[in-house]
Amino acid sequence: MSLSPLFNAYPALQKLIPLVDIPGQQIPTPVTHSLDTPQLWLKHDDLTNAVYGGNKSRKLAFIFGKMQAEGKTRLLTFGGTGTNHGVACAVHSKALGIDCEILLFDQPESESVRKNLQVMQRYGATLRYCGSLLNTVLRFYTLQIHDRLLRRKQTEYLFAGGSSLQGVIAFIDAAFELREQIERGECPVPETIICPVGSSATLAGLTLGVALAGLPSRVIGVRVAPAHLGPFPACTVATVKQLMQKTQQYLLRLQGGIPPFNIPQPVMLDQYYGAGYGVASAAGNQAEQWFRKQRWADGLTVQSECTYTAKALATLRDELATANGPVLYWHTLNSVQGIYSEAEAV
Ligand SMILES: *Cc1c(COP(=O)(O)O)cnc(C)c1O
Repeated sequence: MSLSPLFNAYPALQKLIPLVDIPGQQIPTPVTHSLDTPQLWLKHDDLTNAVYGGNKSRKLAFIFGKMQAEGKTRLLTFGGTGTNHGVACAVHSKALGIDCEILLFDQPESESVRKNLQVMQRYGATLRYCGSLLNTVLRFYTLQIHDRLLRRKQTEYLFAGGSSLQGVIAFIDAAFELREQIERGECPVPETIICPVGSSATLAGLTLGVALAGLPSRVIGVRVAPAHLGPFPACTVATVKQLMQKTQQYLLRLQGGIPPFNIPQPVMLDQYYGAGYGVASAAGNQAEQWFRKQRWADGLTVQSECTYTAKALATLRDELATANGPVLYWHTLNSVQGIYSEAEAV
């Protein structure tokens, strides 16, 4: 059986796109709906992995696949001091015997930031504090250029959030996974799909994947990261579109049976961002309280936090107020807590 719904749709891709079965991976993730709010559906990407879930674990299966195919044994990436991406990299790298180094930039302190830092340390990642986000990005590229000049090839340089071709492909795959669930009658065709946007791979992949899978759903991203880093655009409709174009070109070059397709215009909302990355917003706080009160048909509890989820939930509430059909929240935040309680015991 194929691990990937994208490979089910295009079998020739299976030999062309490497994929690693990360220990604990549990994909497809279930869908459920709210018992309290009509039209509200939820895609459980909080449960992508039994050790540490969330959207980063979905991306890493394809990222580790590429590394394995290229014989790379080290992963270098960056994120905020409370980076969920860093936690996913540290935890799953350890399980696969890969060395992991994470460059960190300052992020407002919170309980979840503190816990994530502790987990990254405990799972043996090498952590380096670099100060501002801009400084961290410059350090990342300097190290990468240095390695290239010395022709060192063992390290995979992975952009923050796992934003890479493989990260986008993981979410194209996720859209095909949703289509299979719709075909099996597990959920209706969503009118709208909503996700938070940090490094953009989730939005880029879902937007491409929904179009490629022929679903009529509108995908809405909610920007929670700065649009520009110093003078450089970092999270804008144009940067999302660039990532989509790069992925489209790569996929068509593979010649794995995907027909030529047009790139849809990505939709990303700016007005829920508030005062900064990781800075809680009033609308977000209110939406979190509403979200925590929802009872879900599968009886599971879901988590939320202020950096990503709360701001996307504020959008979700506003969308539900005017929706004429099902609205699917793509729940990108890990909800598996085991690694945190172990951390407390140390
Ligand atoms: C990283 C992250 C996102 C953003 O996903 P991108 O693909 O980087 O845009 C959203 N939600 C959570 C909980 C995350 O950790």
